[in-house]
Amino acid sequence: MINQYDIIIIGGGMVGASLVAALKNHSDKKIAVVEAHEFNSGSQASFDDRSIALSYGSRRIWESMGLWEKLEPEIEAIKSIHVSDRGHLGVTRINHTEEKVEALGYVVENRVMGQLLISEVTSLNHVDWFSPATIESLENKKDQVSIQIKTQQGEKTLLQAKLLVAADGVSSVTRRLAGLDVKREDYKQSAIVANVKTDQSHNGIAYERFTDSGPLAFLPMTENRYSVVWTCEQKDTARIMQLTDVEFINELQQRFGFRAGNIEKTGERFSYPLAYTESEQITKGRVVVIGNAAHTLHPVSGQGYNLALRDVAEIAETIVENDDPGYSLLLSEYNAKRLKDMRRVYKITDSMVKIFSNDYAALGHLRASGLIAVNLISPLRSLMARQSMGLLGRMNKLQRRLSL
Ligand SMILES: Cc1cc2nc3c(=O)[nH]c(=O)nc-3n(C[C@H](O)[C@H](O)[C@H](O)COP(=O)(O)OP(=O)(O)OC[C@H]3O[C@@H](n4cnc5c(N)ncnc54)[C@H](O)[C@@H]3O)c2cc1C
Repeated sequence: MINQYDIIIIGGGMVGASLVAALKNHSDKKIAVVEAHEFNSGSQASFDDRSIALSYGSRRIWESMGLWEKLEPEIEAIKSIHVSDRGHLGVTRINHTEEKVEALGYVVENRVMGQLLISEVTSLNHVDWFSPATIESLENKKDQVSIQIKTQQGEKTLLQAKLLVAADGVSSVTRRLAGLDVKREDYKQSAIVANVKTDQSHNGIAYERFTDSGPLAFLPMTENRYSVVWTCEQKDTARIMQLTDVEFINELQQRFGFRAGNIEKTGERFSYPLAYTESEQITKGRVVVIGNAAHTLHPVSGQGYNLALRDVAEIAETIVENDDPGYSLLLSEYNAKRLKDMRRVYKITDSMVKIFSNDYAALGHLRASGLIAVNLISPLRSLMARQSMGLLGRMNKLQRRLSL
């Protein structure tokens, strides 16, 4: 038997589940979600202990999806951002009042967002969840796409739809089955993530400090904690991960300085290898690739999920407004609308990694003068702020707070 749907989504992680949330009121669209892990099992890495800095633009999308109010008690607002360069002069400060917004961004734990998304989307009547299950084969035909999936018990099922959305992460099997290649650049760095507490109140200040081995971010969290994202060279990862808590705090304090006070406590550490990946195309036939499956970015710019949420908002609009959202002309339009935003974010993120992750003296001076210039020239600072807030370029309906 073939199960017929309007849309199949492969991957129910942060991005796949966000797409279901964007479509939750559209019961006329029959949706299948295929997810490799059991929901709420704690094994789904997408909803792990790291935190995410949501941009102001992402807040608007969550508002349009009717979920912001529920998330709000769990988030911490970023009121200002302090950017500095270890060993060099030059500091840039960006403040929410100058940008005339309530906050520049918001920090929330993936686990919290995941729990909220799951509670919102798993009991919808128009959505069937196949989980744990994985995609086995894919046929991308002119008028529909057919896939075979396999459950953990080895049961095979055929699904068919007008549009298939690949949201199955950086190693996307769907992308490979659709015949799409991927560009990959290994940054030879890791991000070590931990929550820490200092002896000072964070006052909503986020710090980004560039060091010779890579950027170091302190993001303000609830309960006066910081989410630390420490980018280090890959060869140092194992050593840093094995430090005792006291040694870790000492080394972190030495690299970051005392601008946020004395670090008193640290939580568990997690490490993520960092690479840039980009799918050679984001659409092929009736397949659309979104989220980490389309682009995996260095966390220095805090843009991976924010960019992906704009993919979600755009494809959701296409789905809601068309009976056949997989029609080639519609997907070409989707492609054209998304590429400009993606390219801008890829370029900014990659340049930040390359310019700010080495210790050549000449680059150090350039960085310092760059930071000073950005701080002195208000329009430049505002441009930087609006980019990181996700408020540059074309706005789709959800970004404009319009419901679908
Ligand atoms: C240290 C760090 C810090 C970050 N900080 C930020 C930040 O501040 N701001 C920001 O915007 N972004 C940030 N990001 C990026 C953000 O975490 C990612 O962009 C986001 O999690 C991507 O979600 P995704 O759903 O596309 O992919 P994933 O999270 O990888 O989810 C993929 C889902 O697909 C499922 N799956 C995989 N294979 C299959 C298959 N074959 N069949 C079925 N299902 C499958 C998986 O189980 C999973 O649930 C950060 C990333 C890191 C590593």
